[in-house]
Amino acid sequence: MALTSNFTNDVCSQHFIIRENSIVLQNGKLPGEEIVKKCLAMNVAQDWFYEKDLDYSALMLEPDSPNPAGCDDIPLREFFHTADAKSASLAARAKGLLNFKASKRYCAKCGGALHDDENFTARTCVQCGKQYFPQLEPAVIILVNKGDQLLLALHKNRNDGVYGCIAGFVEIGETIEQTVEREIMEEVGLKVKNIRYVGSQSWPFPDQLMLAFRAEYESGEIKIQEDELRDAQWFSRDSLPKIPPPGSVAHNLISGYFD
Ligand SMILES: [Zn+2]
Repeated sequence: MALTSNFTNDVCSQHFIIRENSIVLQNGKLPGEEIVKKCLAMNVAQDWFYEKDLDYSALMLEPDSPNPAGCDDIPLREFFHTADAKSASLAARAKGLLNFKASKRYCAKCGGALHDDENFTARTCVQCGKQYFPQLEPAVIILVNKGDQLLLALHKNRNDGVYGCIAGFVEIGETIEQTVEREIMEEVGLKVKNIRYVGSQSWPFPDQLMLAFRAEYESGEIKIQEDELRDAQWFSRDSLPKIPPPGSVAHNLISGYFD
């Protein structure tokens, strides 16, 4: 599979037009090819490619460009939540690969310019031929329960009063179970047991694979890591605080979507 960026007579059936973390829709549906062509003609596309094998194209709009005529945009996470599973997955791929292309522009070995590889979903150095493949950052997100109470935390960088789950990146050398235990201990000072994987979600903001877990409280008193959190509390299901919006991994975890 390879990324292609020259218009031929190939017609893809799905077109993902993305601006930062939003997706452009036409009457609530993915726009047609004519909208893609219009964006390219008007020079408002930062980047564009398609993958013929997967039958979609992806276009990144300039951040300050308006929506194409007759189109609206919605947050991508809302699209993940409302679209069918195949379109949601392709949208995540489109966004992740647009991010990859934007961030991989020069070779770390020789400084040469990178271009799309002819045979693989990769970027290749024009000077030394080194190939760069898209990389994912695995991260865990955990919903801890104590009986019928759920542990939710207010992150320091959130100003909207939304309580979410404990989350963090997998560190080199760790098993994922160790990441779960470490993150909970670091962020709220609790020991957990019965760690259970419940599902995963691509989260291309910019390149995460979120691995969702449930865990049960074992011991300890909540003591928050003040660099990261403002508050953490046990909540019963019938008196939850404001939680992250539908489509987010945390919402899916708290609402039981993964169970
Ligand atoms: Zn190179």
